[in-house]
Amino acid sequence: MMERELRIKVAVQKTGRLTENSLEMLKRCGLSYSRGTDQLICFGENMPVDVLLVRDDDIPSLLAEGVCELGIVGLNVLLEKAAEGPGLVAPRTLGALDFGHCRLSLAVPRGKSYDGTGSLAGARIATSYPRILTGWLQEQGVEAEIVTLSGAVEIAPRLGRADLICDLVSTGSTLAANELEEVEVVLESHAVLVAGETPADSFRAEWVKRLANRIDGVLRVRESKYIMLHAPRAALEEIRALLPGTEAPTVMPLDGIDDKVAVHAVCRENVFWETLESLKQAGASSVLVLPVEKMLA
Ligand code: ATP
Ligand code: ZN
Repeated sequence: MMERELRIKVAVQKTGRLTENSLEMLKRCGLSYSRGTDQLICFGENMPVDVLLVRDDDIPSLLAEGVCELGIVGLNVLLEKAAEGPGLVAPRTLGALDFGHCRLSLAVPRGKSYDGTGSLAGARIATSYPRILTGWLQEQGVEAEIVTLSGAVEIAPRLGRADLICDLVSTGSTLAANELEEVEVVLESHAVLVAGETPADSFRAEWVKRLANRIDGVLRVRESKYIMLHAPRAALEEIRALLPGTEAPTVMPLDGIDDKVAVHAVCRENVFWETLESLKQAGASSVLVLPVEKMLA
């Protein structure tokens, strides 16, 4: 086979909470593909990268088996599957992504008392994450009974199947609707970029690296701003110190104005109104904050 015909596959959730953000991330990396209605695979049109649309639970083993080279999955799923047993290759986490934030938490029926982890001894806890929960209970030094359910965990207490639950929470509205109260956070989770074994051929290995770098670039761009302002020379040090997450700003003379300079800087953190107000107080004027389009380290 000619090298040029080699391609890599990225696995993302087919339909669910991670789908939209995952596909958007790949688009931001420059990938264009056509998505059919019930397709399992989308062929990248401008890169040797195809997108595999699967259930999120299958992503860790698809990576372990070498079916795909990269995947986007919740840390919760990755850790649970990793604890299930050694796959062919343990998927490597390349980095945290900025979406899919949630918590794996313990929740008790409203009105029931909860007096810290000690009170979990002997309790029945319903969850879809038995391995993460087992590890956490061990860390806490308590023994409880785990009731493993594949779904509808939140109704287990009402059905008399468990005393409390350990489930994913983001806003807490599902818990509230089921009259449950969050009492402990077992795991803070978010989507992660995961890789399987590095491909043996340099062409695919290079594309895995390139896509991972682009994703990293997209993440950094999203939280970066380009800031431009005029600063009195006398206040330059103070103003520099106020610029969030900047290394070395560019300082330029202003034509015909001797006591002021122009300052341009990339801020690697969000720039809030409070920062702008402090800059103004320090003497800055003509402050402009612009989004950054692309960034390459
Ligand atoms: P699939 O059909 O792919 O198995 P699913 O029902 O397991 O779908 P979703 O509910 O779409 O999965 O959740 C996917 C991931 O989104 C979770 O594993 C978790 O990492 C993240 N997530 C973020 N917020 C929440 C939330 N409030 N509840 C559940 N998962 C959340
Ligand atoms: Zn799932």
